[in-house]
Amino acid sequence: MAKIQMKTPLVEMDGDEMTRIIWQMIKDILLTPYIDLNTQYYDLGLKHRDETNDQVTVDSANATKKYGVAVKCATITPNAARVEEYNLKEMWKSPNGTIRAILDGTVFRKPILVKGITPYIPTWTKPITIARHAYGDIYKNTELKVSDGSKAELVVTDKDGNETRALIHEFKGSDGIVQGVHNLDASISSFARACFNYALDAKEDLWFATKDTISKTYDHRFKDIFAEIYANEYEDKFKANGIEYFYTLIDDVIARVVRSNGGFIWACKNYDGDVMSDMLATAFGSLGLMTSVLVSPTGVYEYEAAHGTVTRHYYNYLKGEKTSTNPIATIFAWTGALRKRGELDNIPELSAFADKLEKASIATMEDGIMDKNLALISTLENKKTVDTETFLKEIKVRLDALL
Ligand code: NAP
Ligand code: MG
Repeated sequence: MAKIQMKTPLVEMDGDEMTRIIWQMIKDILLTPYIDLNTQYYDLGLKHRDETNDQVTVDSANATKKYGVAVKCATITPNAARVEEYNLKEMWKSPNGTIRAILDGTVFRKPILVKGITPYIPTWTKPITIARHAYGDIYKNTELKVSDGSKAELVVTDKDGNETRALIHEFKGSDGIVQGVHNLDASISSFARACFNYALDAKEDLWFATKDTISKTYDHRFKDIFAEIYANEYEDKFKANGIEYFYTLIDDVIARVVRSNGGFIWACKNYDGDVMSDMLATAFGSLGLMTSVLVSPTGVYEYEAAHGTVTRHYYNYLKGEKTSTNPIATIFAWTGALRKRGELDNIPELSAFADKLEKASIATMEDGIMDKNLALISTLENKKTVDTETFLKEIKVRLDALL
């Protein structure tokens, strides 16, 4: 069979530890035998980030802007221990943070559903995709302890020096606390556009909720910006695709999510997204089956697995042990990126290959072949725990049968 040819390069961001090992295995076993891979390779492994003073991360994000699609391996976000372990010049920032800042993107997390891994809410028969607005609110707050007898006010000074004041609270009879938070129309608008674009791409309804009945200016601004952008730029396209934008209150949306069958996108304010993405990931069952894509408001896509570099397994691997690490979310990062490249460059055989590789991956797990952690939670009767390489080779057998 002739290898599938690509047109525009795909931006490839290599990473760290166990996922870096799996990255190469996926390419060798499941991709390069079938595709003449055309990638612009950036090594985001911690050693190379340090050697380039993290310039490689910036370069990879700019290349993603230029070419439109990237696939990223999990990377170490250094802490003090990592600075020592890798003898780093600096405690480099999170690559995902740097890339997100350059692309102005929103992260969408979507679980892969397979037979045998039943969500804690069994009526969730379709995935729920969650999008978190990753700017502002309490994550960029200013807060103070306040002593009894104090008066706390909000003061805004405009560019001409005029002050607007509003009373927060007069503390009488008790000490207390105050907090100042902000957000930006520009950031909320980018978030809204990323969500509307993603919904159109996925052909799924978009849900959004705030507490605008209580927060009549702050949360209401989120509601209004979403409503305006929807009406002006997306309503016609949503109608043409048979999908809907649905706004409600945060407590109402929780009740609806729990009662739902899934199959929609849930846009969340920063804090709601922080909390609810962990809830959804746990409820759907396995971190090894959670995918993630960063979408910019201009429609640039960067695909990755939601999990990290699986450090504990890597240290075992370095000792020469066979490890059983789940490669599925990393495979789906590749298939997501290749399918998108196929769509943008009009290479239907590339998109079809991505579909078949996903099918083969799911079939492998549904045949009972899986990693140790998945086997612990799978309800299938006949399970076989395999090491990562065997897992990939089993997927290849099923892929070959589909091609
Ligand atoms: P992690 O790498 O996601 O691993 C946490 C644990 O979850 C693992 O030890 C393993 O459990 C299980 N696990 C995760 N993915 C798995 C998979 N594919 N197959 C099987 N089991 C899996 O999180 P972490 O240990 O907190 O972080 C490790 C490093 O990753 C850190 O340096 C962090 O900075 C980085 N990180 C990067 C990203 C990213 O690039 N997007 C995201 C998160 C973390 P058992 O040990 O019980 O088997
Ligand atoms: Mg969280």
